[in-house]
Amino acid sequence: MSHPHPELGAPPELPSGGLRVIPLGGLGEVGRNMTVFEYDGRLLIVDCGVLFPDESHPGVDLILPDFAAIRDRLDAVEALVLTHGHEDHIGATPYLLRERGDIPLVGSELTLALLNGKLREHRLKQTAFHKVKEGDRISFGPFDLEFVAVNHSIPDALAVAIRTGAGLVLHTGDFKMDQLPLDGRITDLRAFARLGEEGVDLFLTDSTNAEVPGFTTSEKNITPVLDQVFREADQRIIVACFASHVHRVQQILDTAVAHDRRVAFVGRSMVRNMGVARDLGYLTIPPGVMVDAKELAELPPERQVLISTGSQGEPMSALARIANRSHHFVNLEAGDMVVLASSLIPGNENAVYRVINGLSRWGARVVHKGNALVHVSGHASAGELLYCYNIVRPRNVLPVHGETRHMLANGALAKQTGVENVVYAEDGVVVDLVDGVASVTGKVAVGYVFVDGQSIGDVTESELKDRRILGEEGFISVIVVVDSVAGKVSAGPEIHARGHAWADSDFESIKQPIIDAVNAMLSDGNDDTYQLQQTVRRTIGRWVSGTHKRRPMIIPVVVEA
Ligand SMILES: [Zn+2]
Ligand SMILES: [Zn+2]
Repeated sequence: MSHPHPELGAPPELPSGGLRVIPLGGLGEVGRNMTVFEYDGRLLIVDCGVLFPDESHPGVDLILPDFAAIRDRLDAVEALVLTHGHEDHIGATPYLLRERGDIPLVGSELTLALLNGKLREHRLKQTAFHKVKEGDRISFGPFDLEFVAVNHSIPDALAVAIRTGAGLVLHTGDFKMDQLPLDGRITDLRAFARLGEEGVDLFLTDSTNAEVPGFTTSEKNITPVLDQVFREADQRIIVACFASHVHRVQQILDTAVAHDRRVAFVGRSMVRNMGVARDLGYLTIPPGVMVDAKELAELPPERQVLISTGSQGEPMSALARIANRSHHFVNLEAGDMVVLASSLIPGNENAVYRVINGLSRWGARVVHKGNALVHVSGHASAGELLYCYNIVRPRNVLPVHGETRHMLANGALAKQTGVENVVYAEDGVVVDLVDGVASVTGKVAVGYVFVDGQSIGDVTESELKDRRILGEEGFISVIVVVDSVAGKVSAGPEIHARGHAWADSDFESIKQPIIDAVNAMLSDGNDDTYQLQQTVRRTIGRWVSGTHKRRPMIIPVVVEA
């Protein structure tokens, strides 16, 4: 259990006419968003995303929501609604479809196109696509859905209103309220107001920036800053941003044209996503500006712009390889300008600063959100959330999408506007809406599911702990041979160590104490192998932590002669 709530038990049977909300991910962390709604025995899922691992998850590629709570009821799933195309909302969909392949998938044009690319990579053929746009209404079983345009850091994002016999639920998805977005598609507050008039019984709202006062700066305010950066650069420019941030890429392309530079995309997801966005008309590529990366390299440096992935310091990304000078055709030169036009997702700080240091070491000039306005958030700040509460006037609020502190801050905002009932839940905590009142009624078990190469769910928390110890503290094996007839150690201990500059000779002084401890047990008549191994582990473990102040992994092996 990631978020223990010892006071909560399994939820009671859902009263007839009630709506149950089961968050499986995204409440208590930024990532792997997935919420299940249950009404009259049927289920509706909103989003199915991934969480990216940090340094505490060595060797893990992805972290998924735990489907265990609904695994026995996948047949009852009416649809999966995808609010927008970010990985933390769509990334786990292929893994859910491996468990039931024909779940209807509902989303906007761009969201489904990005998802489709992902499903093809997983060799999944999905035919049950239901393309929707703002203003559409469509029913799946007892769930009557209506979609509302919202503005976010990816085009074509939607909020969803869910009508059932239990009342009207409005889920914002990820959103902000940029009043002058590049595509002119603003968060539809008129629809929010109309739904508010009808009566929103439960309002699920994006908590990410609830602690940030005021209003999120408009995307357009980045333009003059980019322009300044391009004006100052006299060599190559490399801009890293999210591979789905179509409007950010649009601004970089337009700035490149204004400064007579040519642009190439680097990084697989950047090339793929921007191809999709261009084909569907979300990205307008000015004629003549794009070239492929090899052609670009033949131009003089002051004509080159690379738009790259890797803004979160991902070690295998194009930017990290450029920073290591291990990229196969981009050779960083002193004086190159590198712009990180991106947020810094909590947990990625060390990785990002490692890349910035790497780039700086080669003499690159690095511009990032810490020293220039080259990024604005995709999420509503406190001021915008207050507007929403005042416009919607919901009866109950459930803050979603954030760490605990973000959700608490968001709930406090709702209360300030007069919302009477704010319900706080974390992953697995069940919220029921019955007779117009939302309350926590229990919990279901949810864990983290780790994807490691080809295996899903095989890596456990305790294995990860082992990997962390191995990485940080090293590893010591101790082999002792005992003669249980004679009742004494007959060979060894043989001690081998790896990691942390151990030398095998470091262990000479502990060999005799191990022999003494094992002999003492044997002479007491205790020849149980497991207990002998534990004695070996304790003896050397105490010595290592006392004399070397380390806690390596210790593998004791006791064999009978
Ligand atoms: Zn998002
Ligand atoms: Zn998100």
